Amino acid sequence: MANDTRIWTDVDFDRDGKQISCLRLPFSSDRSAYGTIPIPIVCIRNGKGPTALLVAGNHGDEYEGQVALGKLARQLDARELCGRIIILPALNYPAVDAGRRLSPLDQGNLNRMFPGDANGSSTEMIAHYVSKVLLPLADIVIDLHSGGTSLFYLPCCLIRTGKTETETAQLIELMAVFGAPIGSVSDGSGGGGATTLSATAQVLGIPALTTELGGGAAMSSKGEALARDGVLRVLKHMGILPDAIVRPAEPTRSMRVDGRQAFTYAPVRGVFEPAVELGDEVHAGDLAGIIHPIAGPSEPITAIRFEQSGLVACQRAPALTEPGDCLFKLVVDMPLPPSPSR
Ligand code: ZN
Repeated sequence: MANDTRIWTDVDFDRDGKQISCLRLPFSSDRSAYGTIPIPIVCIRNGKGPTALLVAGNHGDEYEGQVALGKLARQLDARELCGRIIILPALNYPAVDAGRRLSPLDQGNLNRMFPGDANGSSTEMIAHYVSKVLLPLADIVIDLHSGGTSLFYLPCCLIRTGKTETETAQLIELMAVFGAPIGSVSDGSGGGGATTLSATAQVLGIPALTTELGGGAAMSSKGEALARDGVLRVLKHMGILPDAIVRPAEPTRSMRVDGRQAFTYAPVRGVFEPAVELGDEVHAGDLAGIIHPIAGPSEPITAIRFEQSGLVACQRAPALTEPGDCLFKLVVDMPLPPSPSR
């Protein structure tokens, strides 16, 4: 039952060395009745030790993680490892291939479909394979996201609070090791809720780090460097790459989303002119931006104001905006719980 996946691979996860191959996702179509979609996978193993599962392309239009993991997969030599690294640089491959957040095959948003379904749509099948085959192999998961087509993000590392204080402290330590300038701690109520890869990992007791590294469907070299350095720092910390030479992490500012009022939404359709930038500190009542009517000066403009104070962590990328589109997300400083080791 657990392993009733329809996805298969020639990768032997227990074999030492570096295997560069693919998962085969069955997809029967007019032009290919017995067709499969190859999803790139790299397994690098050297003897016993912990396993890291490294993922990018969960959403197809988020590029820093895809490039960072592609570089790591090419560069790493199995002899450097104590343990195993499984790399999926383009997890929802149909979405990556299309340059889209969602898969064009089933409109599937992979990070809203965990734990997936072995006999579901193609995106549900990918989620199921990760949940039932890959996650049980993993001692840590890093899922590299960015803002995608519709958002710009301040580079940050995200965790969900653990079931216990010890679990949360371990995640906060890993977040500090990753070394993003902002660390965002979520209680799981926002975003994808229980249907994300990180939420599913947490149910299985596997520590999971998520990132946001840039956005606008662009490739930020700064975000890519942070992804690579952060992943290497975590792999070294876990003892998987004991001799890796890594840049020391910058201090991480721990922050959190403070309820629904942290999000600013567009009330009308129009061209959105932001009044602030990513990283700005704003106050409740401050002007967030103006929405200009498409019809021009015969219609009134709409001023948008922040409902709470905080740091601008995320901003809508495209100017053209519909009612209900998220324009901004704010985060606020979070006092950290005392470390149990102290
Ligand atoms: Zn994403």
